Amino acid sequence: MSDIAPAEFRGDLPIEEFRRYAAQLIDWIAEYLAHPERFPVVPRVRPGDVAAQLPPAPPARGESLADVLADVERVIVPGTTHWNHPGFFAYFSISSSIPGILGELLAAALDVNAMLWKTGPAATELEQVALDWLRQLMGLGPGWFGVVNDTASISTLLALAAAREAKPALAIRARGMAGRADLPTLRVYCSAHAHSSVDKAAITLGLGHENVVKIGVDDAFRMRVDLLEQAMERDRAAGMLPLCVVATIGTTSTTSIDPVGEIAELCRSEDVWLHVDGAYGGIAAVVPELHDLMDGVHLADSLVVNPHKWLFTPVDCSAFYTRQPEVLKRAFSLVPEYLVTREQDEVVNLMDYGVQLGRRFRALKLWMVIRAFGAEGLAERIRWHVQLAQEFAGWVRDEPGWELCAPHPLSLVCFRHAPPGTSEAEREALNARVMHEVNASGEAFLSHTKLGDRYVLRLAIGNIRTDRRHVARAWELLRAATAKSPAAGPGARS
Ligand SMILES: *Cc1c(COP(=O)(O)O)cnc(C)c1O
Repeated sequence: MSDIAPAEFRGDLPIEEFRRYAAQLIDWIAEYLAHPERFPVVPRVRPGDVAAQLPPAPPARGESLADVLADVERVIVPGTTHWNHPGFFAYFSISSSIPGILGELLAAALDVNAMLWKTGPAATELEQVALDWLRQLMGLGPGWFGVVNDTASISTLLALAAAREAKPALAIRARGMAGRADLPTLRVYCSAHAHSSVDKAAITLGLGHENVVKIGVDDAFRMRVDLLEQAMERDRAAGMLPLCVVATIGTTSTTSIDPVGEIAELCRSEDVWLHVDGAYGGIAAVVPELHDLMDGVHLADSLVVNPHKWLFTPVDCSAFYTRQPEVLKRAFSLVPEYLVTREQDEVVNLMDYGVQLGRRFRALKLWMVIRAFGAEGLAERIRWHVQLAQEFAGWVRDEPGWELCAPHPLSLVCFRHAPPGTSEAEREALNARVMHEVNASGEAFLSHTKLGDRYVLRLAIGNIRTDRRHVARAWELLRAATAKSPAAGPGARS
């Protein structure tokens, strides 16, 4: 054995270093938040550029935090897509906020692992309180149990697992699904516009991708309940078992809103679990005049909304609610001896409600966001985003050669440049080029989708720092990009 290493190799860094670099980092973050447009929203890097600037092997000796932070500024920040940029309009625009950032910092410092009440009494109870507050903000009645997951994808996976456990006769928890002649094929239904996380959940649970039945939509991209009913009938006649319907409040392509109330009634009469995916759109229910987004949800079995999408809470924070926590618990609770605690029958042990054992103290940042902005502040910020989106839609509607491509009830607008006399193929090429040009500007970032055979652009507003001028600038860039277009028709000259 060699000599014992010197003391500098033991323990954490000196607390004075924490004070010094934390202050420096907080200053950097303050600058970043004060000037969120300082960096291009989409970084000008190519695949491999970031990794190529980093040593392939770890340092043998500790490096100074000054050097590490310098590399953050030199390599990491320029290779970052800035979701906090007010010109971020792609996918669903999200942002962190000051109370949310402080909550993350504190959660990292406390480093609570709230697997059991005992291992995190405050984290466990705050999770219940913060989610109950959020429920109230959305205008939902009592009777819901909530847990925080990392993402809506995991929340939906847990919902499907609970739906399966809600049919105890299937005995899948104990016996599995493979090699069982007694088991009917289990079917999951969602609209053709539902999120891919429904498919992934079915794949993960072994239900089979083919057993996710995509139901057709009406001309506003909402699930057609008559087609849902027919599909279930057909499946039952074929000896299959309808297990779960996933309805969406705010689909990813267009933010269409499925008729949850009607779907819920059908699910009730068919004895099928109803899960509602409101990952983005559901959050808008915190605006009192948008409470009706939650119409019918009181009849659902589970619901997911993502505070990390439109409630200014840093990624990750997904709120999963169920009216049947005992079923969720039956699906997942498994207590080995080393996790037995004296008070386990009196308390919520969060490990009982999902796959993971350890869990971050995510409720802290959500609670801090809700407290710092208040019900009225949150509602006003989201109301403003909806208003900006409606203004943008108005600009598109009034501009010759441009068209709106879907209803826009919330803060997402689907639209495109469609000069008269151009074919669908030309329009796709034109809009794709326009989008890439706008995104290359570094001032705005948009994404696209397909609605039927139409290639359409999506502008999503949800960033806490986005103001009218950012939306106006995106519109200016879009029009400028079409003006340059050789393929542009007469309507594109403005
Ligand atoms: C974003 C989104 C999801 C997935 O969210 P994650 O938290 O990233 O898993 C699911 N459903 C809808 C409707 C979404 O908009």
